[in-house]
Amino acid sequence: MPVDAINFGLLHRICKLVVLLCFLHIFVTVVFYVRSMDIRISFAPKLQSHHNVTWPVQGTVGAITSRTEPKVDPAVGQPQDKPEQKTTQEPVKKLEKCPETSPLLVGPLRVEFNIPVTLEQVKNENPNLQQGGRFKPKDCEALQKVAVIIPFRKRDEHLKFWLYYLHPILQRQQLDYGVYVINQDGDETFNRAKLLNIGYAEALKDYDYNCFVFSDVDLIPMDDRNTYGCFSQPRHLSVSMDKFGFRLPYNQYFGGVSSMSKEQFLKINGFPNNYWGWGGEDDDIYNRLSFKGMTISRPNGEVGKCRMIRHNRDKQNDPNPQRFDRIAHTRETMNNDGINSLTYKVVAIEKLDLYIRINVDVGKP
Ligand code: BGC
Repeated sequence: MPVDAINFGLLHRICKLVVLLCFLHIFVTVVFYVRSMDIRISFAPKLQSHHNVTWPVQGTVGAITSRTEPKVDPAVGQPQDKPEQKTTQEPVKKLEKCPETSPLLVGPLRVEFNIPVTLEQVKNENPNLQQGGRFKPKDCEALQKVAVIIPFRKRDEHLKFWLYYLHPILQRQQLDYGVYVINQDGDETFNRAKLLNIGYAEALKDYDYNCFVFSDVDLIPMDDRNTYGCFSQPRHLSVSMDKFGFRLPYNQYFGGVSSMSKEQFLKINGFPNNYWGWGGEDDDIYNRLSFKGMTISRPNGEVGKCRMIRHNRDKQNDPNPQRFDRIAHTRETMNNDGINSLTYKVVAIEKLDLYIRINVDVGKP
């Protein structure tokens, strides 16, 4: 047999083998392709269904929350009893307590009132606020639940500045807080201390607060290390006001901004209800604290700096001529005049974007 003929026969067989292998390769590729299509089709509705999952709500700290995936429509061919579709129980991660000193604080702040601010601007700059001006840190559990109470009437311009400066500060202080603006309805003589009592009572209907900050609407802290929280003794926060040359006007001064735990507030039977007009009620509160054996805690003069928005005296808030006489009798009056004798009518409650506004009828002198 010629050598050429042998080589040709061998070549022919090799070619047949190669063609066969090619067919085998194409067959295997097609099989795998079809199978992968199948997997993708059945996987698609599952991805979609994940959008409907309700994740555990933050705040149910330490609870075991069950997460049930929605059932898939049998029409799309998704088997219903796959293991990952069963109801699962996942422990919600317990948040660590926030540190004593917030790492977010920046210290001294520039506070000015020459450029007006708008509520829209404040809202945009504080995207983490909940309706009603509520906030709690999302990465740690706040050490205190603070209701900030502002006695109010016709000071909308001041309130805008207050919200503009205070919301970012309170958030950096990592507080679980809400802002309650207690508006005295009508035009009768103003009663600051009674409005503060009402703020205490109304805030507690809303949430389980354990600390209350009582703040005038026109006072802005100049340092975020001045924590708007509660301490082992009642706290005076507005200790160096620009109005008084950045010092205390007198040692017993407890006006402007102060804070008290629920326990401290109840120990003094809250605040007096019968100081109508300007002055004296803060001195009465000081007397109550001191008669109950408490002392005043204060930040140092640097941290306690604050600015007051200049304004003319409000109408219907003239100095109260009876204040000296009343202050002289706190010891006899405090047990019967306070949170235990508080009466008022709520006219309206509005949950606004940046605060809760409670309009109240406090009666008249
Ligand atoms: C009044 C206080 C006031 C203080 C500072 C006192 O005479 O009784 O109510 O806060 O002066 O202005």
